[in-house]
Amino acid sequence: MRPQVLLVPLAPLAWTLLGVGPLPAQEPERRFTIEADSVEIAFALHGPALVALADEIRATAEGAFAYDLELFGSLPETFLSGPYEGITIAIVEGDVLRGESEPGRIDMTMPPPEEQLDHLLWRGVLTHEIFHLWNAEGFRYAGVEEQWLSEGFTQYYTLRALGRMGALDEPTFLYVLGRLLEMYLMDPGLGSISMREAGPAKEEHTGLVEGGGLAVAFCLDIEIRTSSGDERTLDDVMRLLFARHGAADRRYTLDDVMAYVAEVRGEDRTAFFGEYVAGTATLPLDDCLAPAGLTLTLDGNAAQVRKDPASTGSQLRLLNALRGL
Ligand SMILES: [Zn+2]
Repeated sequence: MRPQVLLVPLAPLAWTLLGVGPLPAQEPERRFTIEADSVEIAFALHGPALVALADEIRATAEGAFAYDLELFGSLPETFLSGPYEGITIAIVEGDVLRGESEPGRIDMTMPPPEEQLDHLLWRGVLTHEIFHLWNAEGFRYAGVEEQWLSEGFTQYYTLRALGRMGALDEPTFLYVLGRLLEMYLMDPGLGSISMREAGPAKEEHTGLVEGGGLAVAFCLDIEIRTSSGDERTLDDVMRLLFARHGAADRRYTLDDVMAYVAEVRGEDRTAFFGEYVAGTATLPLDDCLAPAGLTLTLDGNAAQVRKDPASTGSQLRLLNALRGL
């Protein structure tokens, strides 16, 4: 992608979604189904630009479900044994790009994509919402304070899934990562309220919740991978959350998350969560990124992540692994 993407405004990267209004009463202009884990996923696309994109929408959803099923092994129990018999994904042409997930349904609106980055953004929203079928709807937090995990980790896994699909090359990955870390570093609450405290005020503190949560995921994944010699990853933490909290009466708390990270990491990391998630300290992003051969520079309000041209073989391997390759 050419450097002009750097001029694109930040807002579309906030893949969190404010509410989506009711669908228009008109009939969908294109319907099709795919299958994931023997469950039917029914698409309804409204609007001529989306009909023209139907094959790409299908391919993106198939790629996202394939990635998520490889990670988690199955769909959440609610789809396999009820009450949801299938999943509906309705996408409507509209002025703004946004989406919303419920246990058995995803609603999205999107403007007709024009630039190359627009295509990345709608793919990102769709992939993000599909990941929420697990992380939010499949296993859910006990309190909204934990949205740094439900939103931020979903951002991280969206980048990984897009990377796996071949929809996010390295320069674009570094660009998007920079913008998301910038959201964290520029959040007006950074240093005065914690990521957990930002959860109930997500609209004003999107940066702490989404960018901060992504940064936590990124730092933890790098730490777990490097300390275990690639034997373990953040995926193992996600699988524990899914295995142990996949029911409405077993919602997870911060204590659960810290216990699973300790289990996977083989070391207690309560202090890390105390400082950066429950506390107001700023994550040491330079230290986090270094093992992957990445540096973060902050120029005014603009954060940029660059790859060290002299990266070692192990740094290059780690960077590729983080990108979902
Ligand atoms: Zn979300």
